[in-house]
Amino acid sequence: MQEYSSQAAYDRGEAVCVIGAGASGLIAVKNLRENGFEVDCYERDTVLGGLWNPQNQHSPLYPNTHLVTSRSQTEIPDFPMPDDWPDYPSATQMLTYLTSYAKHFGLSEHIWYGSEIAAVEPVEGSRFEVIVKPAAGNAARRLRYAAVIIATGHHWAPNLPSYPGQDQYRGTVLHSSQLKDASRLRGKHVLVVGGGNSGVDLACEAAVNAAGCVHSVRRDTWHLPKYLGGEPADYALNRLGARPKFLRRFLTDRLLNGPARLAARMGIEVPGRGPGGEEPVRNGRYLEHVGDGSIRRRGEVARFDGYDVAFADGTEMRPDLVVFATGYRPQITCVAAPLLGVEGTGGTPQLMARMFSPKSQTLAVAGLVEPGVGVLPIVHWQTHAIARWLQVRKSDPERAKNFRDQVQSETTGQADGPGAASPRHRLAVDAEEYLASLARIIDTLEQEPAK
Ligand SMILES: Cc1cc2nc3c(=O)[nH]c(=O)nc-3n(C[C@H](O)[C@H](O)[C@H](O)COP(=O)(O)OP(=O)(O)OC[C@H]3O[C@@H](n4cnc5c(N)ncnc54)[C@H](O)[C@@H]3O)c2cc1C
Repeated sequence: MQEYSSQAAYDRGEAVCVIGAGASGLIAVKNLRENGFEVDCYERDTVLGGLWNPQNQHSPLYPNTHLVTSRSQTEIPDFPMPDDWPDYPSATQMLTYLTSYAKHFGLSEHIWYGSEIAAVEPVEGSRFEVIVKPAAGNAARRLRYAAVIIATGHHWAPNLPSYPGQDQYRGTVLHSSQLKDASRLRGKHVLVVGGGNSGVDLACEAAVNAAGCVHSVRRDTWHLPKYLGGEPADYALNRLGARPKFLRRFLTDRLLNGPARLAARMGIEVPGRGPGGEEPVRNGRYLEHVGDGSIRRRGEVARFDGYDVAFADGTEMRPDLVVFATGYRPQITCVAAPLLGVEGTGGTPQLMARMFSPKSQTLAVAGLVEPGVGVLPIVHWQTHAIARWLQVRKSDPERAKNFRDQVQSETTGQADGPGAASPRHRLAVDAEEYLASLARIIDTLEQEPAK
């Protein structure tokens, strides 16, 4: 903030600042506007859509990215995707969808493109001052807002592993976000490292494009096909949620029996607690490629050695290309870590109900969750709750205090998501429980005040 201190701040009164114009930022702008707030949204890139826009210069899309969650489970509740779209839309269709959403709700006029927020600082009266990073030759802008919602996503800082000998490795290494063109795989012996959805998708791309594919996986996980019982798998499983518990368990086991047996045949042990425990991988082609030998599975990489790679099981290979599909580190750099409950360096934000700052009533984060189901419906309810909270805070301080206490108790027990043991699953939430907790939060905020 120091370097910008000579500029006078422009006060935007009761307006709210939203940072990022990806899916979460757009949904936040729409829900805030619908609840009567003035909004300024800042996007560092020159386009909307966040990671779904290949023109966004840091987009992590890789060749042939399609949704792994189905259309009905991904669409925003008040803006359905077109009926004639496929069950699993492509990245291009996701961008079309978000662009139509912005157009339908008239969001573009509230977005400032090419405007990176460099810093967000609390100032007096629970307000925030934001610094908009200057484009070359321009002065920085400083503005004051009544509240700030961070919607900057968590797929921008590649998480790169560090194996013995990797520094001296002489072959070619890419992170999954750098592989934009499947032709780079052609004719090569490819090693894909990482067993999440990206790793599995890229192993399948390598299976059909490369000369050979080895897939290194640290631990087994659930492998779901995209369809179960003749329906999109997430829809089929979600639909069982309404049944009594015993019936639900019986029907779920029956649906999952086939995929679990197929995985076992390929030497994959699925975790005992079912695919709801942490994000399953969803790709029906993968186990078939393992079955026909076009993907060979290996355990964890043990070390790199010259041009060679050795695995923990004692086998070795000499790849032409190594692709690290090892995910991303959630990073929010524009705000001081303690405001987000981050402890130590590189820690994960510990937010109340996964969205409210534990230190400030007027700072919230949207979309910092991995629910293992469609993210957009969750962000819709999160930002609806945030907008309602900002209203109640102004109109009814006593109810606001009770509400904070309730959120605090909703947060207890969520601090450790289903996959908290593994760094890859730091942001995991049990979608069903989390949506139920969002519903309770919204109910409380929407109750008529007692007379
Ligand atoms: C390969 C891949 C496949 C996926 N598949 C699915 C799927 O099938 N189903 C599903 O539900 N989810 C999926 N996701 C999750 C995805 O993260 C969400 O669907 C959603 O798009 C996230 O939107 P977001 O707005 O939170 O983040 P982003 O799309 O990352 O948008 C954040 C925006 O903030 C901007 N920004 C960042 N920092 C600043 C700053 N300081 N100032 C101004 N602007 C800033 C960025 O430029 C970006 O435009 C997938 C993710 C990946 C990477």
